[in-house]
Amino acid sequence: MNILVTGANRGLGLSFIKLGVEKGYKMIAGIRGDKGKHEDLLKVQAEYPDLVEIVNIDVSDEESIRQAKRVLEKLDLELDGLINNAGVLVDRGKKFDELDLDEGLLTFDINTFGPIRVVKHMHALLKGEDSFIVNISSDAGSIANTYDGDYFYGMSKSALNMFSEKLNRALKGVRVYSVHPGWLHTDMGGGQAPMSPDESATCIYHLVEGKVETDPSHTYMNYKGEKFDF
Ligand code: NDP
Repeated sequence: MNILVTGANRGLGLSFIKLGVEKGYKMIAGIRGDKGKHEDLLKVQAEYPDLVEIVNIDVSDEESIRQAKRVLEKLDLELDGLINNAGVLVDRGKKFDELDLDEGLLTFDINTFGPIRVVKHMHALLKGEDSFIVNISSDAGSIANTYDGDYFYGMSKSALNMFSEKLNRALKGVRVYSVHPGWLHTDMGGGQAPMSPDESATCIYHLVEGKVETDPSHTYMNYKGEKFDF
């Protein structure tokens, strides 16, 4: 399988790359900025040089996505899967009267419009029959999980869920998932988080590999494949 992952230099994204190459998948690692500074990813590439391709993708920059697509076309690389993992949480814990609208714009630009930009350009490289798109969402995006904090983050993921649901109907032959990955021990999730990103990536691979049965008409779920309420 050939799988493109955004935000692949650390956290959950890096786990997808590490576990993917161990399965023998060809992993296309989307990163922003100079690849020289992403030592952990470069280590994986050094160990599996034939299985890791690094491309520059800043999900807020549509031109970077166009260029990455050209690179994949030159390499004759089609995709079996696309994992929209890159995300930010900039309004952490902020209450409604503390919100900074610029942070809202940034959050939506990356968490919602980022996956939309990537799908817009990269879907043409998906092989069709039996390919997949995973949009990494969050339980914070569920209406059933409203709390006074992380407003923009939660709203950006709700909107991402809507995109996933519409995409699932629009794209034939492509399974679309909007997955809450769990509370993870990463820079975003923090040190108190109970789950490792490797554990989450393992479970999400099981979903797309068909090892866990999911309802194909419902895109929003957790890493175990359990349905979430929008
Ligand atoms: P991290 O903060 O550890 O990593 C975020 C990744 O996204 C980094 O690789 C970062 O790259 C990348 N990124 C941010 N902005 C952009 C951009 N504009 N273009 C390209 N890449 C970008 O987060 P996690 O690994 O924890 O989170 C991964 C996903 O899981 C996110 O979508 C998050 O919302 C979701 N999630 C995480 C939870 C958790 O508990 N950790 C819980 C629920 C959902 P760079 O190094 O360049 O900044």
